[in-house]
Amino acid sequence: MTEQNPGNIQAQGAENAALENNCAAVLSVADTVRTTLGPKGLDKLLVDELGNRFITNDGATIMLSIKTVHPVAKLVVEIADRQETKVGDGTTTAVVLAAEMIKEGKRLIADVGIHPTLVVSGIELGIQRSIELFKQKAVKINMKDASLAQVISTAAGSRMDGNQVVSLVSEALNILKNPKEKKEMVDLKKSIFLINNPVLEDMVFDGIVIQRQFFDQQIPDKMENVKAILLKIDLKEIKESLVKEVRNYDEIVRMKESQTKVTKEISDSICKTGAGIVFVSSVHADEQLLSNLLEKNIMLIHVSNEELLNIANALDVQVVRRKEDMGKISAGTFKSVYYDEEKGLFFLENHGQRKMVTIIISGVTKVTSQERWRAVKDGISAAQSALTEGIVAGGGAVELYISERLKEENLNSGVDSMGIEVVAHALSSIMRQILTNAGFNGSEKMAEIKNKSGEYGIDINTGKEENMFEAGVVDSAGIKINALKSAAEIVKAVLRIDRILIAHSPHNAVVGKSSNETILKDK
Ligand code: ADP
Ligand code: MG
Repeated sequence: MTEQNPGNIQAQGAENAALENNCAAVLSVADTVRTTLGPKGLDKLLVDELGNRFITNDGATIMLSIKTVHPVAKLVVEIADRQETKVGDGTTTAVVLAAEMIKEGKRLIADVGIHPTLVVSGIELGIQRSIELFKQKAVKINMKDASLAQVISTAAGSRMDGNQVVSLVSEALNILKNPKEKKEMVDLKKSIFLINNPVLEDMVFDGIVIQRQFFDQQIPDKMENVKAILLKIDLKEIKESLVKEVRNYDEIVRMKESQTKVTKEISDSICKTGAGIVFVSSVHADEQLLSNLLEKNIMLIHVSNEELLNIANALDVQVVRRKEDMGKISAGTFKSVYYDEEKGLFFLENHGQRKMVTIIISGVTKVTSQERWRAVKDGISAAQSALTEGIVAGGGAVELYISERLKEENLNSGVDSMGIEVVAHALSSIMRQILTNAGFNGSEKMAEIKNKSGEYGIDINTGKEENMFEAGVVDSAGIKINALKSAAEIVKAVLRIDRILIAHSPHNAVVGKSSNETILKDK
């Protein structure tokens, strides 16, 4: 391994081959998704080894589905995945930003001969400043602002069939807007329960819907003002096998007696709460307990752990986890409870406080219902992020503004100026790409924008300059900031890698090396 002098351009010659190769890998991944950016982006048809077909225009889905072998391309996929999991949207934006920064950064390193460390430190400064500017430009909103619906329609509307589901998310938010509650903040991801089923019809329900077929239980059609309690306690009876193992007759009798006593205690404390329904997460329940409850017209319904938590959230009551706590149970009330036998759906309608809402998402086929589900999820993620971090003009307008600011401020930045320029270039590429995908000449159209205050961009439907807030094209600032941070992670890593070596074992591997670090570290 050769030691490198950081300033020695000649010595970098050999390493540039690795840089070229890595950049090409990133760009090829980016090229597969960049044409999907924005509402007029094109869809991709994915075909797997078994011939299953799948149409999507979701950057994250495409990237996670394609087979990448190149380690650096895998890094891009990983970062896109992280963006998707962390904020739920903005994946394509992150990849396009990364690709543009890498393209420019590579040009500076390979063609102009600037050392990677200098380029990377300039990029870091540019990113920091951009994040400050994003925050400055962010407009705070709350649940009651009309712009919340615009954020949802911008996020969901840039997907295939997205426009069809915008109203579902808006309707769900309308239900959650609780006029009685002073606290504005609602955790949307916890408060909106999604059911994705092509056989059903689209629906927003003011409460919780449970998909369940009740074969062995008589469920009345509709009940009103029903009290409910939630148990996460094992309600199993003494198992036959256990009884067989205990040979001593007295012992069996004693066990049975104590079981009967416990069962009676449990059913008595349930009765005391006045509950009409008991939700339990354990699969089995003691026969005696069931018949005690049935006598009193109390239904026992098995639900999953997730459903149990959602119900607890809706009713704002605790789940009882220990038999000893049975005496202190508090019940919550549903306005009504009804069962649709044909569809196998159990509806639990909210009373007064509206803490949970369910969206049922259908589709003509399983694939379209999944794509519509993703659009709903994007709408919710964008709304959540907008409520916490504010909104900015969409369509690449705020990115163009920040790009211009960076260029202006950059005039005297000395050695870092080139890295900052890389960030400025990448930010302006978002609008260019959205316009290009909509069939315009991106650069030409962008030159038409006179008001570069961060609100103005091109309405892709008319091709004219518009105030994006007025046109209803608004994004969440948080998603943009995260996309930029995700992109920066890939860029810094890729520009600093000058070699990829095959390691003997994963423990010894360090993906690459920065120009003056050792490549393989033996432990
Ligand atoms: P990502 O995976 O990054 O979320 P999308 O394909 O969802 O990519 O595109 C998001 C971008 O599309 C955002 O910059 C958003 O502002 C922009 N966009 C959405 N609707 C419009 C519109 N009507 N006109 C212009 N840009 C839009
Ligand atoms: Mg999106």
